[in-house]
Amino acid sequence: MKITDILANAKGCEFTFEILPPLKGQKAQEIFDNIDPLMEFKPPFIDVTYHREETVYKRLPNGLLQEKVVRKRPGTVGICASLMHRYQTEAVPHVLCGGFTKEDTENVLIDLNFLGIENVVALRGDQAKGESYFTPKPDGNNYAIDLVKQINDLNQGRYLDEDLQNTMATDFCIGVAGYPEKHFEAPSLNIDIEHLKAKVDAGADYIVTQLFFDNSKFFAFVDKCREAGITVPIVPGLKPLVTKRQLSILPQIFHVDIPDTLAIEVLKCKDNAQVRQVGIEWCIQQSKELKDAGVPVLHYYSMGKSKNIYEIASAIF
Ligand code: FAD
Repeated sequence: MKITDILANAKGCEFTFEILPPLKGQKAQEIFDNIDPLMEFKPPFIDVTYHREETVYKRLPNGLLQEKVVRKRPGTVGICASLMHRYQTEAVPHVLCGGFTKEDTENVLIDLNFLGIENVVALRGDQAKGESYFTPKPDGNNYAIDLVKQINDLNQGRYLDEDLQNTMATDFCIGVAGYPEKHFEAPSLNIDIEHLKAKVDAGADYIVTQLFFDNSKFFAFVDKCREAGITVPIVPGLKPLVTKRQLSILPQIFHVDIPDTLAIEVLKCKDNAQVRQVGIEWCIQQSKELKDAGVPVLHYYSMGKSKNIYEIASAIF
């Protein structure tokens, strides 16, 4: 089922979450062990992130460094297929511009289509480690909008090879990312929202937001999107704080603010067990307010750890 249909038919507010594929060499079972308890809350879909390749340097016995390109978390497509098989729920793979040629992307989309996957989230991805800004592969997509256009072309049966005849059209429902506190590269929130509107006009069907800790920023973002003429559903993304270190790491990685009240409560904590409780309580209050405001879905960034998400879901759903 398409995410847009799930959102349109949601009875009340639904519970959904995002997982990461396992690190290379780890078992998929660890992922399932984390997901199993969460199935009690009947998530209509589960997102699976995509991780681009990284360049690593290995020191050789002669002291020289050997450059190697590795993908530390492969398996997004395989995990999606097993989630659908194991839980009979929709799996939503993320697809990236970064690290992919358009040909690679087309081949992934064909695999997803053959597996019966109907939904994807189209993202640019971040710059590769060691690069100061995002660079697409030669013949890769530059911005998420270019990826949206490519998926939309495939939905019309238009492949990269224009000579192909009687082609199968895919039918992907396309999600894209939105940033209530602005994407860090955008000169202003208004310009970022103009770029978001362009993604929607190019064929994106819904928006999932970056995590945020201050609901007023989400509500203001939704208002600005609506004023800009964006009418598609906007799904709020939430993540509970779990460690004191995250007070500085999350703003650094995700470019989001931590509200003073939350930061002060976390700083008072004696250990991370207390931080975890503060983070869960904050996320429960955020979730309640968003649910009361009528959002069709709450989307949790589980980062592969489900115990705190379980506690939050138990209080909300
Ligand atoms: P874009 O929409 O392309 O925007 C990137 C920047 O370019 C923005 O500042 C935008 O304003 C600007 N821009 C857009 N169009 C133009 C234009 N025509 N001219 C000039 N500037 C323009 N990363 C992963 O690697 N794997 C994942 O699975 C993943 N999942 C994510 C899920 C969600 C819900 C979110 C919010 C992020 C996720 N990310 C993931 C991170 C994401 O890849 C990064 O935030 C990335 O830096 C931007 O991706 P985007 O799709 O928003 O890019």
